Amino acid sequence: MPYLRCLLVFATLMITGFSANETNGATGDCPVLDASNAAERDALMHYVCFVAAGPGDEAHSVADPSELPGNQQWTPANGHDLIFSQTDSVYWVQLKVSNLSDARQFWYLKLNYPLLDQIGFWISGNSADQQIMTGDQHPFASRGIDYRYYLFPVTLNAGENATVTLRIQSSGALNVPLSLSTPDVIIADSNHLTLAHGLFYGALAIFAIFNLLLYFSSGTIYYFHNAFYMASLAMFLFAMGGFANQYFWPNSTGFANTSIPLLIAVCTLAITLFGRSFLDISPDTFADRLLKAQAWLSGALALLAFVLPYSLSIIINAIVGLSSIASLFITGFIRWREGYMPAKWYVLAWSGMLAGTLIYTLAAFGYLTDFLAREIFMQVAVGTQVLLLNYAIVQRWRLLNQKLLDIEHDARIQLEQKVHERTSQLRSTMRELEQANRQLAAMSLNDSLTGLHNRRHMDNLLPELCAESRRTGQPLTLALLDADHFKSVNDRWGHDFGDTCLKHIAEILSRHVKRPRDVAIRFGGEEFALLLPGTEAAGALRLCQRILEDMQQSVVKTATDGPVTITMSAGTATLLQNEDDRELFRRADEALYRAKVGGRNQIIQAVEPD
Ligand code: GH3
Ligand code: MG
Ligand code: MG
Repeated sequence: MPYLRCLLVFATLMITGFSANETNGATGDCPVLDASNAAERDALMHYVCFVAAGPGDEAHSVADPSELPGNQQWTPANGHDLIFSQTDSVYWVQLKVSNLSDARQFWYLKLNYPLLDQIGFWISGNSADQQIMTGDQHPFASRGIDYRYYLFPVTLNAGENATVTLRIQSSGALNVPLSLSTPDVIIADSNHLTLAHGLFYGALAIFAIFNLLLYFSSGTIYYFHNAFYMASLAMFLFAMGGFANQYFWPNSTGFANTSIPLLIAVCTLAITLFGRSFLDISPDTFADRLLKAQAWLSGALALLAFVLPYSLSIIINAIVGLSSIASLFITGFIRWREGYMPAKWYVLAWSGMLAGTLIYTLAAFGYLTDFLAREIFMQVAVGTQVLLLNYAIVQRWRLLNQKLLDIEHDARIQLEQKVHERTSQLRSTMRELEQANRQLAAMSLNDSLTGLHNRRHMDNLLPELCAESRRTGQPLTLALLDADHFKSVNDRWGHDFGDTCLKHIAEILSRHVKRPRDVAIRFGGEEFALLLPGTEAAGALRLCQRILEDMQQSVVKTATDGPVTITMSAGTATLLQNEDDRELFRRADEALYRAKVGGRNQIIQAVEPD
C-alpha cells in the first residue's frame, strides 16, 4: 500500500526531526562590537552571548537583566544563529556594543523572526537607558516601530559603550536571527522585500480571484477549491511573515499564536479538497476515502487550534499537513500512471511544493538557518507551484475540451454514416419501387398468357400512331387476325389446349413481326392485332399472307388425336387521311368479318369509304 508506507516514512521523519539537539556553544567571553564598523556588524553573531535558562534555573524566573545572578555564565554564539526547537526555556541574549567613531550614531538591532511570544529589550550605556517589552503576545503597537519584524533602536554617542540584553520566551519553535544595521540599509532592504512580497501576494490574490470567477461562471468546483487553496496559502505565508500580525490582528495578542496552526489546518483542508476534485478521484475508492478522512481531520484540527496548546497543535498540524501533501503527491502520481494527463502537472507542482514545505518546516522547527532565505525559497516554491497548478487546470480544461470535441466529432461521423446508410437504403428502396412500377406497368400493358401486348396498350398506342402518321405522312396499317372456329377447338380438346394454341399463334406472330416499331397485340380471347407503322397496305398483306401460311403449315399436338392445324382469318386497313383510330379499327374489323364470311383462312383488305 504506497499511501501507508509513505505516510509512515513522513511520520518517522517528523518524529526523529523533533528529537534533534538544540544549538549549543561553549562558555567563554563575549567581545565588544564596534557598531560603527560595518565588518563587525556583519559578523554580529560572533559578538553575541546567550543563556538558555530552563524552568528550574534562577535566570528563568527573573524579568529584568538587573536581577540576573552576578555570576551568570554566558555562552558565546560563536557566529551561529540562535535556533532552538520546541522549548520551555527562557533565553537571555546579550550584546556589548561601542561606538568607536567620533560622531553620535544610530542603528537598529533587527530580530528577523515575527513569531516570538515575549521579547524584552534593554539597552544600558552612558546615556539614558531604554526598555521595550514586546512580542506577538503584546499588541502590535508595543514594538515602537511599525514593522513586521522587530526593530530595536541602538543609539550611541561617540566613544560610548552599551550593553544590549534581550529576554525571549516563546512556545513552539524559537529562532533569534539578529542583525545590526543602519536605518538606510533597513529601509532599502524593506523596500526591496516590499516589492517582492507585493508581487508574490498580488499574484496569489489574482490567481485566487481569477479561479473564483471561473468557479462562478462555470460552476466547476475545483476552481473554487483552487481559489480557497490560494487564499489560505497566501494567508498562511502572510501570517508566517509577520504581515498578518501587523495588518490583520495587531491587537488580538492571543490569536497571533492560534493563527499559525489554524491556517496550516485550513491550507491542508484546501489542498485536500482541491486535489480530490482536480484529480477526478472515483467515489468510494481507497484514495477517495483517504482524502475524505484527511479533509475531515484537517477541518477538525482547524477547530482544535482554538483549544489545544500552541506547542502541541503546531506539531500535530505540521505532521498532518506534510502527510497530506505526501498523500496528495502519491495520489496524483497514481492518477498520472493511470493515464489521467492533468495529473502530470499536478505531480510536478507538488514536487516543488513538497520540497519547499519540507525545507520550510525544518527551518521553522530550527533545523535550518537563515529565516529570510527560506522565506524567499518558500515563496519561489509556492509561486512555481501556483503557476504549475494553474497550468494543470488549463491542461485539464484542454483535456475536457478535447473530449467534447471528440464526442462531437464522433457524433458527427455517426450521423453522417447514418445519413449515408439511410440515403442508400432509400435509393435501393426507390430502385425496387421503380422496378416494381416498371413490372406493374409492363404487367398492365402485357397479356399474361401469350406475352404479347394487350388491349390497353393498343388503346394507348393506336391514337398516337394515327396522329404520327397524319403528321409525317408515313403509312400506318392495322391488321386484325382471328382464329377460325376456335370455340370448337376448345370444346373438343379443352380450354387448356385452347390456351396452348393461343401461345402457338403468339409465337408465329412474334416470329413474323420483326421490325422494331411493329407491335403484335392480343386484344381479345383469340383475336389479335398488328400495328404496322410505316407499312403500306401491300406490305401488310404480304406479312399477313406469310403468317397465315405459317399457321397452315404448323401444327399443335393434341393429347388424344395427334397434331391439329389452326387457321386464321385477317382483315387489314391502311389509315386514310382525316381518319381516326376508331374508324381505322372499324374498317379493319369489317374486312375481318368479310374474311370470315368469305370462308375463313384468308385476308381481306378494307375498302376505302366512298
Ligand atoms: P369464328 O371462326 O367465327 O371466329 O369461330 P369461333 O368459334 O372462333 O367464334 P367466336 O369468335 O365466337 O368464338 C371465340 C371462342 O374462343 C370462344 C371461346 O371458347 C374461345 N376463347 C376466347 N378466349 C379464349 C381463351 O382465352 N382461351 C381459350 N382456350 N379459349 C378462348
Ligand atoms: Mg372471335
Ligand atoms: Mg374466332
